Amino acid sequence: MFWQEELETISREELGVLQSDLLKATVARGSISPHYKKVFEASGIDPAGFRGLSDLQKLPFTVKQDLRDSFPFGFLAVDPSEVVRVHTSSGTTGSITSVLYSQKDVDQWASLMARCMVMTGMARHDVFQNLSGYGLFTGGLGFHYGAEILGAMVIPSGTGNSQRQVELMRSFFTTVIHLIPSYAFRLFEVMEEMGVDPRKDLKLRVAYLGAEPHSEETRAKVEDLFGVAGYNSYGLSEMNGPGVAFECVHQNGLHIWEDAYLLEVLDPETQEPVPEGEVGEMVLTTLKREAMPLIRYRTGDLCSILPAGCPCGRTHRRISRIAGRTDDMLIIKGVNIYPLDIEKVIMSIPEVGGNYVIELFNQKGADNIRVKVELNPGAFREDMRHLEALRQKIAKELRDSVLITPKVELVQPGKLPRSPGKAVRVVDLRGQ
Ligand code: AMP
Ligand code: ZN
Repeated sequence: MFWQEELETISREELGVLQSDLLKATVARGSISPHYKKVFEASGIDPAGFRGLSDLQKLPFTVKQDLRDSFPFGFLAVDPSEVVRVHTSSGTTGSITSVLYSQKDVDQWASLMARCMVMTGMARHDVFQNLSGYGLFTGGLGFHYGAEILGAMVIPSGTGNSQRQVELMRSFFTTVIHLIPSYAFRLFEVMEEMGVDPRKDLKLRVAYLGAEPHSEETRAKVEDLFGVAGYNSYGLSEMNGPGVAFECVHQNGLHIWEDAYLLEVLDPETQEPVPEGEVGEMVLTTLKREAMPLIRYRTGDLCSILPAGCPCGRTHRRISRIAGRTDDMLIIKGVNIYPLDIEKVIMSIPEVGGNYVIELFNQKGADNIRVKVELNPGAFREDMRHLEALRQKIAKELRDSVLITPKVELVQPGKLPRSPGKAVRVVDLRGQ
């Protein structure tokens, strides 16, 4: 099933031509905004002479700091009266940034979201419960509008109030949910407390998991607990929000909508394209955005491009699951470690629950890490020998996989602090 079959299955040649035309239009439109007007002048780019894809590498990068410096309207390329929506980035690091949408942008975004959902088999008879933050965060309204134009029954339940979430699922026979993976485990605990078995007592069949990094092992755990197919949803507010890249039913990487976003995967050091299959930084250019075009935006997210072709028939290339961010690599005792490498190991251990935190601390002048792991209620017993054996097993698996021996601490189910939004997985205690 397709939402926009012609565009989703467009030939690579036609797509190239389309992208080139759209890129030219984006550069022309961008040059209206105060930011790009200045940047183009400084780097000698003449939008009228810009030839499209073959000139891509001449364009300067855009970075998060540019968005901060230009807050709130420095990237605006339409008259302010054309703006119908404002979102902001979640701002986990530094000050907030704004994203501005015209009516056409909002419609365009909704249809990209509808493409994603239809791609996973969602249809108008589905009941979609959106357990995502509404308001300035893009995950709420982004999914909401997509599901509505698709014709599903939409329950905008938002975040939190887990008991009510479960009651809504029961009353309305919810079939599809959208939530951040770290919250899925909390929700499952509440279901257990309420005596609700999602596999037997609810109608759930699909879960969209996104907005934060997570491993294949975490997806498998969520699928198993809830009895659903879990699909990875990737997006960032700078590129509208969710709906940038999404998995199809084959769960073999995320199709990126290349008629809306121009994809480059570059070596973060040299800024040269990396070969297919190699990990690099994802750099994106909006191709259809009207109010706020963004050119060669350095996302900081690390991924690789997968080999072309997918049994679903879509021609848009696939990217790997996000492997980390350029700014979240830890160097411990000379070894490079991404938090997701640690997540992969601990989530594959059945006794572990859904919550963990990595603490960085300083020991005798050297950096070290401590991994605090919540056990799942079934595995927790107040028996010191049992707990010590389990702790050693986790430490050994981590040592075998990430090549250093982190300190491991087991924590009772439900005892690690939880953040209301995206999970905070790394806590830096080195200054203390
Ligand atoms: P925000 O703009 O606040 O929505 O945050 C966007 C960022 O969240 C992205 O740049 C990624 O770092 C992260 N993110 C979103 N979706 C995913 C995903 N499916 N997997 C990994 N990271 C994600
Ligand atoms: Zn596919």
